[in-house]
Amino acid sequence: MGKEVAGPEIDRLIQLLARLPGLGPRSARRAALHLIRKRNELLAPLADALQKARETIVTCHICGNADSQDPCTLCRDVERDPHTLIVVETVADLWALERAGVLSARYHVLGGTLSPLDGIGPKDINLTRLIERVASGAVQEVILAVSATVDGQATAHYITGQLAEFNIKITRLALGVPVGGELDYLDDGTLAAAIQSRTLF
Ligand SMILES: [Zn+2]
Repeated sequence: MGKEVAGPEIDRLIQLLARLPGLGPRSARRAALHLIRKRNELLAPLADALQKARETIVTCHICGNADSQDPCTLCRDVERDPHTLIVVETVADLWALERAGVLSARYHVLGGTLSPLDGIGPKDINLTRLIERVASGAVQEVILAVSATVDGQATAHYITGQLAEFNIKITRLALGVPVGGELDYLDDGTLAAAIQSRTLF
């Protein structure tokens, strides 16, 4: 970079913004300038919201969702079908499925996939709790909404093996649809169709 045009505080803001998904250095500079210009309308409330998020957001000990309460809002919702459990890789996937609003089910967030090459084994993702939840007896169907990648499918096979002893149905989303951690990119109709036309694993 050439000569400095701003003090270290602004530079730091830009560098942090540039680490957000979808923002490169150029859009980070634009975002920073926008925040500075809208100091009262945007920068101040954003700073407050970030602070609040930092203070309150926790991981649900039941399902792995991110929320400001534990158990999370979804786990507390007694209207949800306790017999159907949708297993997702990320909180973003959970939110996408909720937005599509197809099933009023329960969720389980793995927080990743098994990946032997990266040294990620069963203990490194939220699997033990999943097996405990199924073992506790209420679950009748587990829908594996994991990605079609090698790691995603290996994870699905591993989970199926672990759940084999329980008398439950294991299904997966219609093939070709799930894209690891990126259900979020699908439109709600496609996502709804993938759930409705789920197949036995
Ligand atoms: Zn939860």
